[in-house]
Amino acid sequence: SARFTMGNTKDRRMVAARVVENYPFVVAAVVQEGVYAPIWYKSIGWILASLVFGILLIGASVAFLLRANKKIGIELDERIAAQNALGTAHEALKEVAYKDPLTGLPNHQKFIEALATVIEERKLNSTYCAVIYIDLANFKELNSRFGHDRGDLILKELSFQIQAYVGENDLVARFGGAEFVLLLHNLSKQRSKALEIVDRICKQTLGKISEFHHFNGVEFRGSARVGIALFNSPEFRVDELMKQAGIAVQQSKGLGANVISIFDPEMQKIIDDEEKLVEELKKAISENFLELYFQPQFDRDLNIIGAEALLRWNAPDVGNIPPNICIPLAEKNGLIHLLGDWVLGSVSNQLLAWSKLNLMNDLVLSINISAQQFMLENFVSSVLSPLKSKGVQSNRLKLELTESVFISNFDDAIQKMKEIKLSGVQLALDDFGTGYSSLSYLKNLPLDQLKIDKSFIHDVLIDDNDVAIVKTIVMLGKSLGLDVIAEGVETMEQYHFLRSINCNLYQGYLICQPLPATEFISFVQAYRQKSS
Ligand code: C2E
Ligand code: CA
Ligand code: CA
Repeated sequence: SARFTMGNTKDRRMVAARVVENYPFVVAAVVQEGVYAPIWYKSIGWILASLVFGILLIGASVAFLLRANKKIGIELDERIAAQNALGTAHEALKEVAYKDPLTGLPNHQKFIEALATVIEERKLNSTYCAVIYIDLANFKELNSRFGHDRGDLILKELSFQIQAYVGENDLVARFGGAEFVLLLHNLSKQRSKALEIVDRICKQTLGKISEFHHFNGVEFRGSARVGIALFNSPEFRVDELMKQAGIAVQQSKGLGANVISIFDPEMQKIIDDEEKLVEELKKAISENFLELYFQPQFDRDLNIIGAEALLRWNAPDVGNIPPNICIPLAEKNGLIHLLGDWVLGSVSNQLLAWSKLNLMNDLVLSINISAQQFMLENFVSSVLSPLKSKGVQSNRLKLELTESVFISNFDDAIQKMKEIKLSGVQLALDDFGTGYSSLSYLKNLPLDQLKIDKSFIHDVLIDDNDVAIVKTIVMLGKSLGLDVIAEGVETMEQYHFLRSINCNLYQGYLICQPLPATEFISFVQAYRQKSS
C-alpha cells in the first residue's frame, strides 16, 4: 500500500497493486481518502475510546483493590489487636478465676484442677500425695479486734509463712477466710513414711504460724488446726479427698490449738449421716443418754482440788462420739441450749451428791461453755437456776469460757460475766494462749483462772517457744491475781518443770484420765485417804 497524489489534486489516496500471474499485468486498486478515512477514523475513535475506557476501568479497579486491600490490612491489624487484647483479657480473667486476690495464691478452682491432675497421674505413679487443710484459728476475733485491714495484712504474712516449708512442685492455695489448703506431691511409696513427711511439714508450718509476730503495730501469735487426707491411687475423687481433709480438720477442732489430725474413715461414717445423728442427739439429751466424765485437778503438792466435767456420748449403732464432734453438731443444729441445760442440770445433781459425801464436799467442778451457749439471752439464769433449785453452793461451780465469747458483743459478754461472778460462780478462761489474748482487755475481765491450753504443755520440755508462752502466761496470771492451771500434763517432767516456774495447778493423764461419776468418787476418796 502507498499514498500518492495525482495531478494537482491533493486528494490523498490509498493504492493496492498486485502482479497477475502468467500475464504481463499489474492490477492496482485506488481508494480516495475521503472514502476510506472516515471509517478508519471512526474505528480509531472507538478503539481509543475503548482504550481510554479500559484504562480508566483498570485504574478504577486497581484503586478499588488497593483501597480494599488497605481496608483489609486495617481490619487485619484491628483483628490482631483485638485478639491481643482478648488474650490479655483472657489472661486477666484467668488470673481472677485462678488466683486469690488478697494473697496471690492459687484459689479453690485452681486447687481442684491441680488435684484432679495429680489424682490422674496416680495411674502411672503410685507414690502417696497429701491434701492438707490448715484452718487458722480465731481469725474472726483477730479481725474484729484489729480491723479487717490489719487482718488482711496478717493473712498475707501468714500465707508467706505457710509457703516456706513446702516443695517447689507443691501447691499452697487459699480458699478464702482463714483456710489454706496444701497439695503435696510424691511423698513416698510407703504410707507410714509419707505420713512422717507430712507430719514434719505440718509441725514446721504450725511452729512458724504460732511464733510471736510483730506486725504493723500489732503483736499476734497465730494458731491453726490441720487435717490431712492421703491418696496414692487414681480411684480417689477430688470431692472425696476434700471432704476427708475437711473431716480431719473437724476432728482437730476442739482438741486445742495446733492439732494435726489424719482422716479417720470411722469418722466419715459418723458424719455421713448427719441428719440421723442430730435426731439421735435430740433423743440422747431428752432421754438422758449422755454422760459426764470427771477429770481431777491438782494443786502444787498434788492434792485434789476439783475436777473438769467432760461430755461423753455413746450413741446407739454409732458408738462413742467425741465432744469435738458433738458440740459443733449441737451448735449447728440449734441444740446447744438443750445440751448446755442438760450439762448444767447434771453438774448441779453431781455437786449436790458430792456435798453429801465425805471427802468430796469441798471440790470445785468446772464445766465447758460453748460460745453460742454463752451468747443466749437467758444464759445467766440458765446457769443459776439449777443451782438454786437444787440448793447447791454457787462457789462450787466454775465456768470455763473461751475467748470466742467476746467476739460478737464484748460489752454484753462482760455484763454477763459480772452477773455470774457476783452470784459466786467462778470463771476461768479456757484454752488460754490459743486466741489473740490481749492484755488490755484481760485486766477488765472478772476472772478467777487462766487455763493454759494443752498444746503448749505437750512440747514444753522441747520447744523454746512453748516455754516462753507458758512462762508468760504464768507471770501474767500472777500480775493479775489469777490462778493459772495447766491442762494436758502427761509426764512427771512436765509437772516438775511447771512447778519450777510457779504454775501451781495441774490437770492431765499423768495422774488421772477423765472418769465416770462413780469411779471418780471412788478415785478421789481412795486418793485422799492414801495421802492423809
Ligand atoms: P478442753 O476443754 O480443752 O478439754 C480438755 C480435753 O483434753 C479433754 O478432751 C480431755 O479429755 C483431754 N485431756 C485431758 N487430759 C489430757 C492429757 O493429759 N493429754 C491429752 N492429750 N488430752 C487430755 P475431750 O474430753 O475430748 O474434750 C474435748 C473438748 O470438747 C474440750 O476441750 C471442750 O472444749 C469440749 N467439751 C467437752 N465437754 C464439753 C461440754 O460439756 N460442753 C462444751 N461446750 N464443750 C465440751
Ligand atoms: Ca476445758
Ligand atoms: Ca484445751
